[in-house]
Amino acid sequence: MKNKELFQRAKELMPGGVSSPVRAFKAVGGEPIIVSRAKGSRLWDVEGKEYIDYLMSWGPLILGHAHPRVVAAIEEQAKRGLSYGLTNQYEIELAQLVVSSMPSVEMVRFVSSGTEATMSAIRLARGYTGRKYVVKFEGCYHGHGDSLLVMAGSGVATLGIPGTPGVPEEIAKLTLVVPYNNVEALEEVFNKYGEDIACVIVEPVAGNMGVVLPKPGFLEAIRDITKRYGSLVICDEVITNFRLSKGGAQELFGRDPDITCMGKIIGGGMPLGAYGGRREIMEKVAPEGPIYQAGTLSGNPLSMVAGIATLRELFELNPYDRLEALTIKLISGIRDILSHKGIPHRINHIASMFTVFFTDKEVYDYATAKTSDTDLFGRFFRALLREGILIPPSQFEAWFLSTAHTEEDIALTLEKIDRAVRSL
Ligand SMILES: *Cc1c(COP(=O)(O)O)cnc(C)c1O
Repeated sequence: MKNKELFQRAKELMPGGVSSPVRAFKAVGGEPIIVSRAKGSRLWDVEGKEYIDYLMSWGPLILGHAHPRVVAAIEEQAKRGLSYGLTNQYEIELAQLVVSSMPSVEMVRFVSSGTEATMSAIRLARGYTGRKYVVKFEGCYHGHGDSLLVMAGSGVATLGIPGTPGVPEEIAKLTLVVPYNNVEALEEVFNKYGEDIACVIVEPVAGNMGVVLPKPGFLEAIRDITKRYGSLVICDEVITNFRLSKGGAQELFGRDPDITCMGKIIGGGMPLGAYGGRREIMEKVAPEGPIYQAGTLSGNPLSMVAGIATLRELFELNPYDRLEALTIKLISGIRDILSHKGIPHRINHIASMFTVFFTDKEVYDYATAKTSDTDLFGRFFRALLREGILIPPSQFEAWFLSTAHTEEDIALTLEKIDRAVRSL
């Protein structure tokens, strides 16, 4: 079967032929590939073509595709039942792992996606404070909940969707949007609405307008201002949890958020999200408290055992230094190739995630991210794909390395990128 034929059929059956917008490759042009299987650092399409994968399912697969320990855990659990609808022992084990690695998280609630985690977290913040406004940063993506789709990153940025059709103005009005890394704008919003602001939600390192790092003092300022006004901080670590370090971004940046959202790596490739925080706040969640949130498949045992296996493997390996060294090797190679060809670029990087922006400007917020030449990115993406290198099909996303990527993979990748860039 061919990618093209299958995608034609997919388009007749599913909007855009996909289950999530950016998968249609609209922003980069060309036909999307249809995946048949993946293992380690490699992925194969239905035509049998092999790719070295830096998309890595958008972040969850820090151990690479189909890691044996994770697969074995899922296989064994499947025989014991796929879902119980009652508390299982693996939830307690994973909760223990989460609580012991994130000091700001004393209690945790499991859900089935990052979107559910952030939606539930802002409901909790609103219920806890009795206030209605939510502050978010332009270009940050917190899933597709109504309140959080305002000026969002990820697919919304990729497809250039301006407003949020389907989100009533009355709801959108309750979300106040501030440029990332802009403390003055944040102060202004608090001057005006402070007493009614339930929470500030932030990606401690932005990954959904491409990788954008917090400037020194930015996260501290969020903490200080919210404390002054009695608002909560929601740290959206759906990408960064267990990606930047065992304790996520908050460990590296020394912050103490009130609520933390988790997803991606925590489920090791299975659908899983979570939100957690201080006991006093989490005790407001039903049935302990009045703020309702529930899920038929929440705490799903397959997701739990995949998460446990992933975290245990990560904590035993402690691969963060090796991953970063490998990432830096790849990035410096890419820099050399692009400089040699005279292509203006900026590479923003932290740990094992990074973004290549085609701009000569420093990228520190959504406006500067948008100075990137997205047409050139599209040609770059397609040239890489032809060479067998899979990267995110959008300028405004992050490349990810996994523990399955080897020195040889990096060397081969650079050879292929070099050939691709020559062809531009
Ligand atoms: C991916 C992501 C989400 C949404 O998670 P889903 O599992 O796709 O619903 C939320 N916040 C951030 C920071 C993300 O990267």
